[in-house]
Amino acid sequence: MHDVIIIGGGPAGATAAIYAARAKLDTLIIEKAYFGGQMAIATQMDNYPGIDSISGNELGENMINQAKKFGAVAINEEVLDLELDKAVKKVKTSEKVYETRTVILCMGASPRKLGLPNEEMLTGSGVSYCATCDGAFFRDKDVAVVGGGDTAAEDALYLSRFCNKVYLIHRRDTMRASKFLSNLVLENPKIIPVWDSVVQEIIGDIMVTGLRIRNVKTDEISHLDVNGVFIAIGNIPNSELVKGKVELNEGGYIKTDENMKTNIPGVFAAGDIREKPLRQVVTAASDGAVAGQAAEKYLTENNFM
Ligand SMILES: Cc1cc2nc3c(=O)[nH]c(=O)nc-3n(C[C@H](O)[C@H](O)[C@H](O)COP(=O)(O)OP(=O)(O)OC[C@H]3O[C@@H](n4cnc5c(N)ncnc54)[C@H](O)[C@@H]3O)c2cc1C
Repeated sequence: MHDVIIIGGGPAGATAAIYAARAKLDTLIIEKAYFGGQMAIATQMDNYPGIDSISGNELGENMINQAKKFGAVAINEEVLDLELDKAVKKVKTSEKVYETRTVILCMGASPRKLGLPNEEMLTGSGVSYCATCDGAFFRDKDVAVVGGGDTAAEDALYLSRFCNKVYLIHRRDTMRASKFLSNLVLENPKIIPVWDSVVQEIIGDIMVTGLRIRNVKTDEISHLDVNGVFIAIGNIPNSELVKGKVELNEGGYIKTDENMKTNIPGVFAAGDIREKPLRQVVTAASDGAVAGQAAEKYLTENNFM
């Protein structure tokens, strides 16, 4: 019987493991792919205080090694099913069924993709899903943002601070973003809306050099010379596993209180998978710290320790 099982080895899960293991909880962290999570594919991490230049992979490894140093056990298995409603919770993986008193859900989120042939190959080489993370690499360059919602508007405004030109490619002829953000976008001389249009091809062998655009009303094809394309068509929370088991919001994100508690006693959620305003490494780590400590408090209060 474990005190805590953490599902997901990104920054939220690794930080939860650090806090839980430091509190001497029997801590198991289960990751199905790479420890480090989404950041494992980022060549350089930005916005993490005190760390100037580090790859996402290295930061992820540092975090999980720190958790192991305090006694957490980290394994590579995929969690396939969960029983969460009783005091003893069951976590079923591809290998076996684990029992635990508490579960911290840290399965993260995945950016929605365009699904174009070059997209994956050029990710990190001009294709980005995170303007806040990668925007600074495109200083004085021409870039495009794909999308028409709040995130696309915020990304375009953010990029306009240091990029030369920002094309905003949207499949409709008006923005879906709030009126306030839409007005800021439309008044910004650096942002050039490309209405009624979709990206048909991302061009580039090693780095992005341009985009082939199709007008959805006229079928006309045009070309944009850009060095970067920021895809802001939404995120998909990896919450399928807990659908119908913990409370989710309309977008599928897990609802928690400020202590990362879900609506099920002994079940916590941290990081990108939960409903929150900013999804970054620093906020994932912060959630993980709070969740690790909240799990300890739950175990103490319920006389499980
Ligand atoms: C390309 C890219 C670059 C980024 N750059 C930055 C940056 O520079 N600075 C910054 O602050 N943020 C950046 N971000 C955002 C940041 O990476 C995320 O906010 C952060 O990783 C979220 O952490 P998390 O632990 O909540 O989730 P994730 O990092 O998504 O980790 C979740 C983990 O759970 C695992 N998992 C999911 N389901 C299961 C299952 N059933 N069983 C077992 N394991 C499972 C996944 O494999 C994954 O490893 C970037 C994101 C991307 C995609």
